[in-house]
Amino acid sequence: MKDKKTVSIIVPCLNEQEVLPLFYDAILPELKKIDAYYEILLVDDGSDDDTISVMQSLAQKDPCVRYYSFSRNFGKEAAMYAGFVNAKGDYIVVMDVDLQDPPDMLPKMFSVLEEGTYDCVATRRVNRKGEPFFRSLFATAFYRIINRISDAQIMDGARDYRMMTRAMADAILSMSEYNRFSKGIFGWVGFRICWLEFENTKRKAGKSKWSFWGLLRYAVDGILNFSQVPLSIASWIGIMMTLFSAVMLVFVVVRRAVFGDPVAGWASLICVIIFIGGLQLFCLGIMGQYMAKMYMETKKRPHFIIARSNDEDVRKIR
Ligand code: UDP
Ligand code: MG
Repeated sequence: MKDKKTVSIIVPCLNEQEVLPLFYDAILPELKKIDAYYEILLVDDGSDDDTISVMQSLAQKDPCVRYYSFSRNFGKEAAMYAGFVNAKGDYIVVMDVDLQDPPDMLPKMFSVLEEGTYDCVATRRVNRKGEPFFRSLFATAFYRIINRISDAQIMDGARDYRMMTRAMADAILSMSEYNRFSKGIFGWVGFRICWLEFENTKRKAGKSKWSFWGLLRYAVDGILNFSQVPLSIASWIGIMMTLFSAVMLVFVVVRRAVFGDPVAGWASLICVIIFIGGLQLFCLGIMGQYMAKMYMETKKRPHFIIARSNDEDVRKIR
């Protein structure tokens, strides 16, 4: 007889005291439908409200709940990584606490993995109902760009919400880079992925942690982490400008020699100088971004520091 599997649910939480009990109540009936043991890993990403005490009381009620509380806010990526590092299950799930990831998909995900054809069941939103217009616009542009210029394919509307086998989780763990961009990492490791679709829903309580600028920064980071194409922008602009100026040179020399017409124009000269100066700074800036990432990678600082946990074998720093 086959042993019962264990499903680990990784839940990053930042200031989620309102929605955390709702999340637990919503997820439990779904987990009961699955013929497996479960463990819920609540990662408190340095909340400054009562998230940690809500976690502690859930853990008291249910021995399958474990909490990991960071020493400060390290970001959702670090929280997910801490979950992967500490998860012991055969199947690993990542999901948001705000119930934007429908818990009723869990039994379906489990049964797809049990069939054995797929290594991961991932989810994507088919629409962005209820999301600000500009956010959707930028998101769509982002997916177009990154899929063209990077080697990690990312599905438009893909969520972090997914269930995967231990093999895939180990592959993700082996990517220990400091600058983490999970959507890219999930795509980069490959494996056979089954996509399930669902309609977007609003978060049940609490506030979204994302500002417009925060999301833009996240998108730029994603591109820098998974593509070298921006680095070659400088070369391409350089080649174009050299060709263009060669043509202009011939034009100017011929005009002077044949028509005796000296070129006037202090103003146009200044414009050209400023234009080229701007391009050079822009390209330098791109290189600077990559250098900054290299700098952080070489420091090998830990991704997270766990200050409190009810897990006896907790890996506190990684
Ligand atoms: N989150 C986190 N650390 C952060 C920001 C967010 O752990 O620094 C968690 C948050 O508690 C939630 C999930 O990441 O469970 C998604 O956040 P949110 O709902 O704010 O993002 P959105 O759904 O608006 O993209
Ligand atoms: Mg959300």
